[in-house]
Amino acid sequence: MTAVPIQALHPYEVCIAPGLLSDLGPRAAALLPPRRAMLVSDDRVYPLYGPAAEASLTRAGFRVSRFVFPHGEKSKSLPTYTALVQALFDNDFTGGDSVIALGGGVVGDLAGFAAATYHRGLPYIQVPTTLLSAVDSSVGGKTAVNLPGGKNQVGAFHQPALVLCDPSLLETLPPAEYQNGCAEIIKCALLQSEPLFRAITENPVSRQWESVIAACVEIKGDFIQSDEFDTGRRRLLNLGHTVGHAIEAVSGYTVPHGSAVSIGMVTVTRAACRRGLCAPETLSALENLLAAYGLPTATDYTAQALAAAALADKKRRGDTLPLVLPEAIGRCRLEPVPVGELPDWFRDGGL
Ligand code: NAD
Ligand code: ZN
Repeated sequence: MTAVPIQALHPYEVCIAPGLLSDLGPRAAALLPPRRAMLVSDDRVYPLYGPAAEASLTRAGFRVSRFVFPHGEKSKSLPTYTALVQALFDNDFTGGDSVIALGGGVVGDLAGFAAATYHRGLPYIQVPTTLLSAVDSSVGGKTAVNLPGGKNQVGAFHQPALVLCDPSLLETLPPAEYQNGCAEIIKCALLQSEPLFRAITENPVSRQWESVIAACVEIKGDFIQSDEFDTGRRRLLNLGHTVGHAIEAVSGYTVPHGSAVSIGMVTVTRAACRRGLCAPETLSALENLLAAYGLPTATDYTAQALAAAALADKKRRGDTLPLVLPEAIGRCRLEPVPVGELPDWFRDGGL
C-alpha cells in the first residue's frame, strides 16, 4: 500500500492499494468514533460498490445510513444538497457522526459540502471511484455545489479525515471517464514532474495505477501544503483550465472536461512557444502524449469566443487574467496576461 500524507491544517492520509475497499470499516474506525455513518453515492456507483462499503463499515461497528442520488453533474445542486442534509437530520446525525463519499467528483464535492456545513462540520472520508476523483477532486478539501448557470458557486474548504483509494474500482470505468482522468494526470506531469511524464509516456496509466495516482496526489499535496486556501501558488493547478473552462462553457458543457483541459494545455504551450518561453520539443512531447491517450489537441471555437468566456470566469482579477505557462516538461509559471491580449494568447488552440 502507498500512503501519501497531506500536510493541511488538519493533516490526513491518502491510502492507495487494490482491495482497500474491504478495509474501509476498520480504517474509518481507527480515525472516527464508530457511530453513525452516511454513505453517499450515485445510482451507478452504489450498485457496484455500495454493498461492500456498507458491509465493511457495519462490521467495524458503524450504523450505516444511505443517500443515493441520480448520477451526473446535474445532481451537484442545492436541491440534492438540501435532500442530503435533511437525510442527516432525519437520521439523527450529530457532531462526530461521519459522512462517507463513495463515487466520483460529483459525489465527493456534494457529500463534502454537506459534511462541511451540517452541524458546522462532520468528519468525512473520500472513497474515489473515478480516475479524476482519485488523482484530483478527492484530495484538497474543496467542496461545492453548482448554481443554475454557475459551477461550484456555493462551497467550503473542508479536508477529509481520510482518502481511501482502491484502484481496482477503476476497472469498471467507462473509457471516456478514464480519458478525463488521464488529462488531469498529464496536467500534473507537465506542471511538476518530468519522471511522471516519462512513466506515462512509456506505459499506459492503467498498467501502473498505484504509482501514478500516488505521484499526482503528492504533487497536489505539495500545492495544498503551501497554499491550502487557494490564494496564490495553488493556482498553478489551473494549468490548461482557463481555456478548458472556456471551451466547456461555449460548448454548453458538451465537450468533456478532460478534452477541454487537453486543448487548453496545448493552447497555452503553443502560445508559450510562440513567445520563445518554451521549446518546440516540449510542445511536441505534450501533443504526442495527449494523442496517445486519445485526447484532442485543437478546437474550432474562435479565440475571441474563448477569451469572452474566460473573462466571465470567477478567477478573473482586475485587468489581467493569470495564465499558467509551461516552460519545460515539469516546470510552469503563472503569467498575468492583460485581458486585451487574451485572444492572441488563445489563437493557438485552433486547428
Ligand atoms: P462523476 O462523479 O460525475 O463521475 C463520472 C461518471 O462515472 C458518473 O456517471 C458516475 O456514476 C460514473 N462512475 C463513477 N465511478 C465509476 C466506476 N468505478 N465505475 C463505473 N462508473 C463510475 O464525475 P468526475 O469526473 O469524477 O468528477 C467531476 C466533478 O468533480 C465535477 O463536478 C468537478 O467540478 C469536480 N471536481 C472537483 C475538484 C475539487 O477539488 N473538489 C477538482 C476537480 C473536479
Ligand atoms: Zn480539471
